[in-house]
Amino acid sequence: MTMQKGSDVSPDSRPNARIAGAMLVLLSVLLPCGCASRSAALRPYMHPERLYLQDQPYRRLYVEIDRMEGADLPDYLIDELKAFLGAHCLKPGGIKVVSDPPLPQETFASVPLSLASILCIEGPPADEGPQPAYLHVFVYDGKRTFKGARRNPRIMTTCPSAVFWNVDYARSFSDAVKIHMLRHELGHVLGLCQNTAHGDGAHCSKYGCLMYPMPDWLSQLGGAVHLHFREHRLCEECRRDLELARQTPRDEGLSFAGPFLVRKADGYSVASLPFYDAIIGSVGFDWTEVLSEAKTSIGQTVSKRLNDSENPRKGHRSAVLALYGRPEEETDPERLREDIALLSKAIHDFSPEIRRLTPRILQRRQEALARFGGNPPAVGP
Ligand SMILES: [Zn+2]
Ligand SMILES: [Zn+2]
Repeated sequence: MTMQKGSDVSPDSRPNARIAGAMLVLLSVLLPCGCASRSAALRPYMHPERLYLQDQPYRRLYVEIDRMEGADLPDYLIDELKAFLGAHCLKPGGIKVVSDPPLPQETFASVPLSLASILCIEGPPADEGPQPAYLHVFVYDGKRTFKGARRNPRIMTTCPSAVFWNVDYARSFSDAVKIHMLRHELGHVLGLCQNTAHGDGAHCSKYGCLMYPMPDWLSQLGGAVHLHFREHRLCEECRRDLELARQTPRDEGLSFAGPFLVRKADGYSVASLPFYDAIIGSVGFDWTEVLSEAKTSIGQTVSKRLNDSENPRKGHRSAVLALYGRPEEETDPERLREDIALLSKAIHDFSPEIRRLTPRILQRRQEALARFGGNPPAVGP
């Protein structure tokens, strides 16, 4: 059972694409970070960085790269991705980067960015040993697809296990700048900048640091010097924060299941991808089934939108909430009571998206129970 809500389409944050060529060269030096300068801090309940940085419980890291037809992550960027993660993540079992075949443009022409990224995820192969830590990289060309979506490279603070990479944003930038931008986003995946002793909780305050928010004229000069020498460095404080995170006991309530980050809550769990949350009750949990359910329901959502003549270019940040293993319509009073008990807990979840979307599913279940099994139980505080 799923609910989703379209959200506003953010304005294009890139300078005018038609700007003169000479100015573009200048900007390629002055805007080395595509990340918004006022990006939000990671959610306090969603910190998977230690799952990436530490060698337990995941001895391997699996990176899945999905790219739309006509968009590419060139080899030198893939090499940088491996090198950066290899330098900071303790993964004695190795870091495997798999680039899936390009996704046909026409198949995704009517799908918003958020849902497309979910549809293309395959997750780590089950026959390659124990569960690895997982990172998704979604590569697209914003000039050809997902028009109206945010353009800058970024991660989602709600589920920082993916990098969204728009090749059009960085098209005119030098290779050195692209490397800087990619490393910066990977720095966010590794949980950097939470330490407010040298930052605002989202970015680092040290001029010239890889995690400094851009743009700022003085820091850009410092950043340009670093880029000239191809250093792309983290400051001492950020390096110390990474070392500390490698040594800090991890949060036992957070784990990977396939591509999902699974968070234990009070009486239920939440399996998350960027833009997607599935509430898992006491039933058994198989991530391949959760993913399959997600893709099926998203396919139905897209078809319905098309049938209703809705603009497919809207809703690039749609958030989807699902109640795993439960049909859209339920008529068994006993199951309806179970669902209502579960959802009554989930409406108090840490996640604002879950708190916002759960009441709709809960209301439907309560109405169904009133129809098929008498009065619904009172909802808890
Ligand atoms: Zn950033
Ligand atoms: Zn720093």
